[in-house]
Order: sequence, then structure tokens, then C-alpha cells
Amino acid sequence: MEHRYDVIVVGGGHAGCEAAQAAHRMGARTALVTLRRSDLGQMSCNPAIGGLGKGHLVREVDALDGIMGRAADAAGIQFRLLNRRKGPAVQGPRAQADRGLYAAAVARLMAVPGLAILEGEVTDLVVEGNRAAGVVLGDQRLAARAVVLTTGTFLRGVIHLGHEQRPAGRWSDAAATRLADRLAALALPLGRLKTGTPPRLAGATIDWDRLERQPGDDRPTLFSFLAGGIAAPQVECGITRTTEATHDLIRRNLDRSALYGGAIAGKGPRYCPSVEDKVVRFADRESHQIFLEPETADGALVYPNGISTSLPLDVQEAMLATIPGCERAEIRQPGYAIEYDYVDPRSLRPTLELRALPGLHLAGQINGTTGYEEAAAQGLVAGAAAAAAATDRDAPRFDRRTSYIGVMIDDLTTSGVTEPYRMFTSRAEFRLSLRCDNADRRLTPVGIEAGLVGAARRAAFERKAQAVADALAVAEAARMAPADSADLVPAARAGGGARSGFDVLSLADEDRKADVLARIGLGHLAPDVAATVAADATYRHYIARQAADVDRLDAGAAVEIPADLDLTTVSGLSGEIRAKLLAARPATVGQAGRIEGMTPAALLLLLATVRRHERTAA
Ligand code: FAD
Repeated sequence: MEHRYDVIVVGGGHAGCEAAQAAHRMGARTALVTLRRSDLGQMSCNPAIGGLGKGHLVREVDALDGIMGRAADAAGIQFRLLNRRKGPAVQGPRAQADRGLYAAAVARLMAVPGLAILEGEVTDLVVEGNRAAGVVLGDQRLAARAVVLTTGTFLRGVIHLGHEQRPAGRWSDAAATRLADRLAALALPLGRLKTGTPPRLAGATIDWDRLERQPGDDRPTLFSFLAGGIAAPQVECGITRTTEATHDLIRRNLDRSALYGGAIAGKGPRYCPSVEDKVVRFADRESHQIFLEPETADGALVYPNGISTSLPLDVQEAMLATIPGCERAEIRQPGYAIEYDYVDPRSLRPTLELRALPGLHLAGQINGTTGYEEAAAQGLVAGAAAAAAATDRDAPRFDRRTSYIGVMIDDLTTSGVTEPYRMFTSRAEFRLSLRCDNADRRLTPVGIEAGLVGAARRAAFERKAQAVADALAVAEAARMAPADSADLVPAARAGGGARSGFDVLSLADEDRKADVLARIGLGHLAPDVAATVAADATYRHYIARQAADVDRLDAGAAVEIPADLDLTTVSGLSGEIRAKLLAARPATVGQAGRIEGMTPAALLLLLATVRRHERTAA
């Protein structure tokens, strides 16, 4: 069969757009097929990009010349850096986006010569021998050397609203049932997951004057390393809370919730619970915070972040009447839960290619993840790998020591998922070196090597890399006598003789680092260059300690966990990790390390407890 395309991507969501763009950038003849052209860049749920861990993924996608960061910068109507008071390594840029502007920006970035966008439902895969060799679209067979499936929540999707159920991929989209049946016939390991979304409110019917307001940051942190500045008007969010009356109402109607009526078998995201889940699980809490986030710059539609629900519409309306500021709010689209098929990602190679069917790559929610950013990052990995395979090149590899993308791919393909997987900084044991500010230093060279990075990005990257290297050299060479830095370094950290400028930078508090740079003649640095130089200094000692911890864990991986050790005695663990540890009862520290969500810090606590137990026993 003649190959009309090198790569066909099915689905125009966040995974699909990055996959198609990546394959196209690598020079593969690429087509993206999606149900409707207007799908490109659709945000199915909350109108926001980034956040903790997720912001890192966006920066990494951007460092590889992906489109998500640029689209979010173009559409951002409120930018906030989360965890601002914590160290730069765990800060996460987040932007609320105007839905329409975001989709328009994605469509613009996808409109490049040679990248075909086709409309319609893919109903089948073409399989030749034991390889995926194309897709069926209407009455056409489209041949390709590699296929990337990014069908999100559409595979046998079922929407639940109270006791009502209907097949659907999203509120106003049909489910992809025929393709799901085909995957089931391939005997792939499928499971069911669920997620939910809150009702959307008419902005004009909210009583904003009675609400606490939350503005964006004065100096916004944008996503793209190529960012010029803010493009859209900026808005404020409102903050309100559920009340005792809300909780009473929910408790009285629990049997009408799809989640509690037993209608949903799939597991949902624990970190994004429905409002009925919150009321049941945190029964002692008097109220829960709700952020009223405009979905558009004109404020016409509002997303009440915090009250995702599968209660029926009449209860949703009654619930709003109990929430200050929302008493008269009108619902424009009800909240609902959706249940869908996913493929166990342990059946994938690190290139996100199915082991059982070479030529078929899977990316996004279909792999059991949740979130636009996780989807986009997987799309980029799968699209680049598909293009590499189709054009006989090596696919770029992503390692957990150098990227959050590597952490996610490794987590998914080795540990699988037990609930919708989302990124957290705590998943990355090397997080002090995997920062947002240095995503370009970590990954743009990988992208250049793979052919993923265009000329403009490459030139900008090389300019910044040179500026950082020059500034680090100046900081190392600068000598500062104690008297020169006495006002810059807290007394507790001062002392000793003359130091290098870099040492002083590492000792100064975050809000004095700019002063140190100015004093050693680096006051002129561009903000992104200054941020990387300062963060390198902040973390120099921690990174050395982190490397030592990694060595200790590597050496301790084979240590056996004695059968008589009471695992509840490992102190300092989070409730979640403790529960997982007790359920898994691993035989060795290495096995414990493979429990989903296990952190290096928790493993070190476990290792210390095992050693103590051994000493006591001896
Ligand atoms: P999607 O963005 O869903 O894109 C799938 C694409 O595939 C669509 O363009 C569709 O048209 C296309 N498609 C499907 N089948 C076919 C076919 N047979 N032929 C051609 N095209 C096809 N994430 C969070 O982080 N937090 C949340 O709280 C959250 N809540 C959610 C609530 C709901 C109700 C939904 C639906 C999603 C929610 N998400 C949430 C998830 C988030 O929307 C997804 O993780 C993200 O959009 C996944 O991206 P994707 O590219 O994998 O899939």
C-alpha cells in the first residue's frame, strides 16, 4: 500500500496538536484527523494551563519548540506563579486562559504549510502484518507508516448527570465507540476511569461585589522562552465558599449523585475530587473554597473551580443558591461526570508505541492521565517518536534525571496508573535541578539533535545559553570581602573570609539576589538569565546533597524489608504514601520505590527505619 503520510495523528486535543506539530517539525508528512476542525485546542474542563508540576511540563514542551506555552501566553487572561514563597524549583507558572483565544492561538500555530488537518471520525485502524499501517476515515483508507491515537475521553465515553447516562466524548460530542471496539478486539489491556467538571455559570448573574477578588501577579510569569509579553486583557477571579447549607443539601441528595449511586465503576482523580466527594470525605470541614474563574476576557462565562459534580441539574441549581455570591447564578452548562476507556500504559514502550502493535503510538488521556499539560507532553513524545520511526531516525529519549517528561513517561510505562495520573513536583526525585527556568538548558539541545527545534528558537536558545555562561563566569570570578556583602547575606549565614560572587549569591535570600547581581556588575542581565544564574546559586549545595541521596537510594535498593517490620512505624510519611506502602507490602526498598507516588524522601525514611530495625534485631 502506498503511504500517503508518514504520520497520522487521530484527535485534535492537546496531545494530538503537539503530536502532529512535533511530527511535522521533524519533517514527516503529517496529517491530523479530528472529529471537528473546531476541536483544535479545545479545553474540555478548566480554562487554565500550568500549575504545580504542570507548569514544568509546559516549559519543557516549549523548550522542545512545542506550541502549548505560546498558545497559553497568547490567551492568558490572568497569570500567577504558584508557590511563590517556596524555592524556584517548585514554583509553577499558571495562566487562566480565554477559551476562544486559546483555541484560536492553537489553530494559528497549527496552520503551517504541509501539515494536513482532516475532519471526520476515524472508525478503524489499518493493520498490515503485525503493524499499524493507517486509519479508516469515512470510506477512505489513509495509509501511514505510523499512527498516533490521542482520543482523550472519547473511547466508549459515558456522561453521567444524576441518574441520567448517555454515550458522549464531551458534553456536546459523540463518543468514539467504533474505534474503542476495534481496540478491544486487539486485546489491549483496557480499564475504566472517570473525571468530572462543574457547571458553567453566566458571569452577569454572579454578585461579584460581595466576593473577595484575586488579581493576577503584578509581574506576570509567562510560559514560552520566546514570549514577548501579555497579549489579552487581564481579569480578576472571585473567591467564595460552600456553606453548611450546601453540605446539607449534598448529603440529602447523595443517592442522586452518579458517583454515589453506584453508576460509575471507573476510578476518579483523587486530587480533583467532586464536591460530593469533599463533603463525604472531609465531613468535619465547614466549608470548601471555590474560585470563580472567568472563562473569557469579557467575563460572560465563569468556571466555579472546586464544585465539580455529577448531581442532577435541579440539585446543582439548589446548591448554587446556598453559595454566597452565586445565589442567583444561572447555569449555562451543567456539571457532569464522564467515564471512559483507557489503555494500561504499561503496554507501551518509552516512545509510547504499543509493544503489541508496532506503528501505533498512544498519547494523552487515553493512557490514563488527566490534564492538558500531561496530554501535550505525551503528544510531543509520541509524535516525535512516530516521525523518527517513519523516517528511519532515532527518537529523542527522555530521562527522569533530566525532565518531568521523562518522569511521566517512566511512571506511566513502568508503574501504570491506579487513578487518573497527574504531574506533581513530588514525583520528580531530581526536582531541584528540573526547574522551570532551566527547561531550555535541559531540553532544547535534545530537541535540536532530534530536529524538533526551528531556527528562531535555536538562535534565541544559543543567545541565552551564552549569556548565562558568561554571567556565571563573572559571578565565580568576582571576589567579595565580608564587608562588601554584609548587608546582603543574613547574619546567620555570614562569616568567613572573602567569597566569590556566586557564593554570596547562593547565601543571599531570594529577595536580595538581584542586589548581589547588581553589586558584582550583573545588574543588566535579562530577567530570564538572572533567574537561572540565581537559581543555580540557590541550589548548588542541595543538588550535591540530592546526588548523594540518589546514590544512597541506589545502594539501598536491594535492602530487604523484614517481614516483621511494622510499616506504620515509619514516621514522617504522608497518609497517602503510608496507605500505599501498607497495601503493597513491598519486599525490598527498590520495590517500594516503584509504588506509584512514592518519593525519594519517603524512601529514605523507609530505608532509615529498616536499618534501625536491623540494628535493634541484631
Ligand atoms: P482531548 O483533549 O479530549 O482530545 C481528544 C480529541 O480526539 C478530540 O479532539 C476529539 O474530537 C478527537 N477524537 C476522539 N475520537 C476520535 C475519532 N474516532 N476520530 C477522530 N477524532 C477523534 N483535566 C484536569 O487536569 N483536571 C480536571 O479537572 C479535568 N476534568 C475533566 C472533566 C471532563 C468532563 C473532561 C472531558 C476532561 C477533564 N479533564 C480534566 C481532562 C482534560 O480535558 C484532558 O486531560 C485533556 O483534554 C486530554 O487531552 P487529550 O488530547 O488526551 O484529549
